[in-house]
Amino acid sequence: MTVFDSEGMDEMVVQSNIPFYSLCEHHLVPFYGFAHVGYIPNGKIVGLSKLARTVELFSRRLQNQERITQQVADYLGENLHPAGVAVVIKAQHLCMAMRGVKKHDVWTTTSKLTGLFKEDQSCRNEFLNFIN
Ligand SMILES: [Zn+2]
Repeated sequence: MTVFDSEGMDEMVVQSNIPFYSLCEHHLVPFYGFAHVGYIPNGKIVGLSKLARTVELFSRRLQNQERITQQVADYLGENLHPAGVAVVIKAQHLCMAMRGVKKHDVWTTTSKLTGLFKEDQSCRNEFLNFIN
């Protein structure tokens, strides 16, 4: 991942409503929805398209939603060493709509927060405001 000098920028960068499509590793049917990704620069920033590309990188394989959430956060953490990473994913699982309970319009939300997003309530609230 190519990173750039943040030139003093230390406020959170948030990208919301990144669409993604993946395939449930248990039932081999699609799940899809939106990812919301944020980080607080600590000397480095990344090209904006790379946030969406990171979501795509980890969703384009047999997956589960929890792991995508974790892997996107880990990847950004390892490459940017930011002051915090926040990833929220909301998805609909066709396996839930098709099998058994046949629940339509159910959304599953997973999140991974690190650093300031986890420790600082105001950072967390700012992020949640940006994505809602
Ligand atoms: Zn499934």
